[in-house]
Order: sequence, then structure tokens, then C-alpha cells
Amino acid sequence: MARHMGEERMNLILLGPPGAGKGTQAKRMSAEWGLIHVSTGDILRDAAKRGTALGLQAKPLMDQGQLVPDAVVNGIIEEWLKGPEARKGFVLDGFPRTLPQAEALSQALVTAKMSLDAVLSFDVPEAVLVDRISGRRSCPACGSVYHVVERPPARDGICDKDGEALIQRADDTPEKVRERNRLYEQKTAPLKAFYAERHLLRPVAGVGTPDGIFADIRRVLGKAA
Ligand code: AMP
Repeated sequence: MARHMGEERMNLILLGPPGAGKGTQAKRMSAEWGLIHVSTGDILRDAAKRGTALGLQAKPLMDQGQLVPDAVVNGIIEEWLKGPEARKGFVLDGFPRTLPQAEALSQALVTAKMSLDAVLSFDVPEAVLVDRISGRRSCPACGSVYHVVERPPARDGICDKDGEALIQRADDTPEKVRERNRLYEQKTAPLKAFYAERHLLRPVAGVGTPDGIFADIRRVLGKAA
């Protein structure tokens, strides 16, 4: 949950299948506009690494590419929205992922007297997702993300920023990606209609370079470069 300089208070959701580039774009939006990047996946992976009760419950599900129960992730976000950081503007990455989560978020925002500004929706063909995700490597220390072909580190398998050995997530294999994408289509894609009805849905380019996709996000949000 990093915060950087620049003031642009907006409350946003990123909706898209695994590998759509949500994390990459959320980091960028956080750096450019000072929004707080909230990734339920990162929170759960951190809990799993630290071996907390939450982490122990979530890890087997995450490793299988399954969803963690709604009540668990809803609780995480509801608590976070009560804290001071939430007032700075945020970009939710990986939440909500089901209709009950979207309903719980709406309720929590009403309680907190807050609202959403936009839901950015990324559409990406499955073949592109499998390719992106199976080449994805990340730094366990600083969270930097690489791709073995498209964005390789200077030294093979080593983070450019801190020299840590890069790792591949257990759920980033082609089979698990297909399973996660199937779950996305079944459970998460219906959220597009949910947010379209509320006039919040903004489709953005899912395929292209990170710079090109970020330019499209600016366009959709009406933020000139
Ligand atoms: P991500 O980093 O967003 O791809 O999330 C990794 C994994 O964490 C998912 O495959 C789920 O197992 C779990 N997870 C993250 N966010 C949620 C959520 N909103 N609902 C249920 N499970 C989640």
C-alpha cells in the first residue's frame, strides 16, 4: 500500500482477469496520482508469508488458483476503509471479485460516506494472459515485477533494485492461469454489468505496452499527460 507524491483524489476499482496488468497499472497510478494501491492478493500473500491465521487459511486456496471466501476478503477491505489511508484516494486491485464482494463494498462505502469514481475494466484474450503470466517473475522483497521476455531484469533471475533472487508465484503456471481465468469469467465478469448499471464502468485497452495502456487510462479518466 504505497503512497507517493501528487494529489489526485479518486476512488477506483481495477477489473480484469489475472495477468491483465492491473498490478502494473495500479503501481503507476499510485506513483503518478498519489492513490493508495490496495491489492487483496498482496495482502493475502504477505499474510501467508508471515504465517498468520489469515495466511494459513488463504494459502492453500491461493496456491490452487481458487478464491478465498468472500467473508474473509470483505473483512480485510471493510477494516481498511475505516482507516485514515482510505481518505487519500485508492485504487483497488483484485477486489471485488464476486457479486457479494461488490455488494459488501457498496455498503461499506455508504457507511464510510465515500463513493467510487470509476471502475476500469481490462479485456485481454486468454492466450495473451497465459503468455504474460507464465513469464512473470517478481521480487519477494520489493514487489517489482518482471517478464522473462518482455521486461527481463539486467541479470537473469535477479531483481534490478535490490539484488534479491526473483520468484515465480505458485499460481502462475499455465494450468492455474486457465483455471483462474475460468473463475474470472464465471464469478468476476458479471461485475461489469453491475458497475455499468451504476454508470461507473470504463473499458480500457488491455493489450499493448504498459505506457500505451496507462495513456488509455489517462484518456478514460480525463487526465491529460
Ligand atoms: P491476485 O494477486 O489478485 O491475482 O490474487 C491472488 C489470489 O489471492 C487469488 O487467486 C485468490 O486466491 C486470492 N484473492 C485475492 N483477492 C481476492 C478476492 N477479492 N476474493 C477472493 N480471493 C482473492
